Amino acid sequence: MFSWFRKRRRKKLLAQPWPEAWDLHLQRNVRLTWEMTPAETEALKSRVKIFVAEKHWEGCKGLQLNEEIKVTVAAQACLMLLGVDDYYFDNVKTILMYPQAFKRETGDGISQGKSQYRAGEAWQGGPIILSWKDSLRGGRNEDDGHNLVIHEFAHALDGLDGEMGGNVMFNDAAAGEAWLKVVDREYAQLVRAKESGRRTLLDHYGATNKAEFFAVASETFFELPRELSREHEQLFALLQKYYRVDPNQWQRRR
Ligand SMILES: [Zn+2]
Repeated sequence: MFSWFRKRRRKKLLAQPWPEAWDLHLQRNVRLTWEMTPAETEALKSRVKIFVAEKHWEGCKGLQLNEEIKVTVAAQACLMLLGVDDYYFDNVKTILMYPQAFKRETGDGISQGKSQYRAGEAWQGGPIILSWKDSLRGGRNEDDGHNLVIHEFAHALDGLDGEMGGNVMFNDAAAGEAWLKVVDREYAQLVRAKESGRRTLLDHYGATNKAEFFAVASETFFELPRELSREHEQLFALLQKYYRVDPNQWQRRR
């Protein structure tokens, strides 16, 4: 799409009123919005309006799409964008929604015929695929450290440099270098913890590879910011620099 056209279209979308019924979806399904300031809520709503309108949404396996599904997914994805302007996951054009976890063939030749269930997937240059059941669960449990939508959209952000490899882009070179060092150390620690079966704040799934590490760290950053800043101070500080928000403010006092 031509950028001038997109700009004009976005301006028009922003001028449209926020549907009152959408407030209910935020209140019921996206608990991280509960403690946002009025200014943050307004910023989130602007982003949700554009995100809902611009993505190509598809219901799979008989799932009937509705506004509740779109708004619930959009709000969780867009809270990751409160620190940036005029970017709405533009690299993600299509969102495929399944009613629940879906079966995928691993199709690598060796393990052909083997299948597993997945709650979500993100493809470089392709769609984000989500289970609605798990997207809803993530939005309604704001402090268990698990959030499917944040996880998959973190992969999309990671892919902005052309590769979903866990090397996220910072506009400050020193932060980029610090990120590599901190992640090397943190990732190795998580791998060791997983091998020895020791429970950790960061989910062991983050020890799969560095791309999963970034996605898991992002889930923890938004859902358990206080714990993350206490146990992984440098990682938290870098994620805060990356997302340019402080999710501590959105957590109710526990
Ligand atoms: Zn992942």
